[in-house]
Amino acid sequence: MRQAKLYRYSLPMDSGVILRDQKLNNREGWIVELCDSGKTALGEIAPLPGFSQESLETAGVQAQEQLELWVNQQQINIEQCVPSVAFGLSAALLELEGSLPSEGNYRAAPLCSGDPDELIPILNNMQGKKVAKIKVGLYEAIRDGMIVSLFLESIPDLTLRLDANRAWTLDKAKQFAKYISPSLRQRIAFIEEPCQSPGDSVSFAIDTGIAIAWDETLQAAVREPDFSVKHLTGVKALIIKPTLVGSVQKCIRLIEEANNHAIKVVISSSLETSVGLGQLARLSHWQVPDETPGLDTMQLFGAQLETPWPGCLLPVKTLSEQTLYWQSHGHATA
Ligand SMILES: [Mg+2]
Repeated sequence: MRQAKLYRYSLPMDSGVILRDQKLNNREGWIVELCDSGKTALGEIAPLPGFSQESLETAGVQAQEQLELWVNQQQINIEQCVPSVAFGLSAALLELEGSLPSEGNYRAAPLCSGDPDELIPILNNMQGKKVAKIKVGLYEAIRDGMIVSLFLESIPDLTLRLDANRAWTLDKAKQFAKYISPSLRQRIAFIEEPCQSPGDSVSFAIDTGIAIAWDETLQAAVREPDFSVKHLTGVKALIIKPTLVGSVQKCIRLIEEANNHAIKVVISSSLETSVGLGQLARLSHWQVPDETPGLDTMQLFGAQLETPWPGCLLPVKTLSEQTLYWQSHGHATA
């Protein structure tokens, strides 16, 4: 007999988490719980304010409709759901079938700001290749260029991922590049969205030889019905955020298409709780085994939910402490 529950959670965030100019005090979302033949599986549906097009309420209504169909052994249509619902339901169903492998990639590219000396001990403890992340575009482009150059010069086996979040004009982006000598540029694995317009970002990549990655551009492009990776030329990597993209199956198709075009993929979070984040770590290990995912967002929370993230010391809230919003009544199968 199939049974389902839909919880609405609210978890405190660390103070100072700001999303698109809005302070985020609490992360809110839905957890679906599926039960069938003695097995239980969870999935997280968490539209990200300012990034997802659907609201929390819309996602909840749609999730409940799909769960009612599922409980009654009727056809559900995940691909027609909004992205957050498609991701959460597909993850729960894969989990229930045992198709989502249990091993996860919990490694992170440490975020660094000022001082290479602080980064060196962290990198020395890392297994595999040394990769760190720097947010650029918040201060002067020239300053960013000097800092990136300093890190690359002081740590010869370091690879950097940079994220500019579309902060620069093409001119500013070129000022940044001017401070990084061409011999260091290939150790920039990629810079996400250097320019306000994707066309300028491509020009930047061609002019400077610095690899770029699509994040915002990809999340917008996948909403188009005729979307294909081949429209996203000129990039080294795609940042896939499943909560903004859709079902696990859709993400896997995207990864395969990217691989066919020699484009790397980094699985990245949309501030999911430890429930969704753990499934993303497993998806990443399963489908993109060689790339460190972008899932180092647990420290932005004040608490974890139900399934702890390895090594995380935040308190773990249980699902039973959250609001049980809906549950199926149970129907015997024929
Ligand atoms: Mg980004």
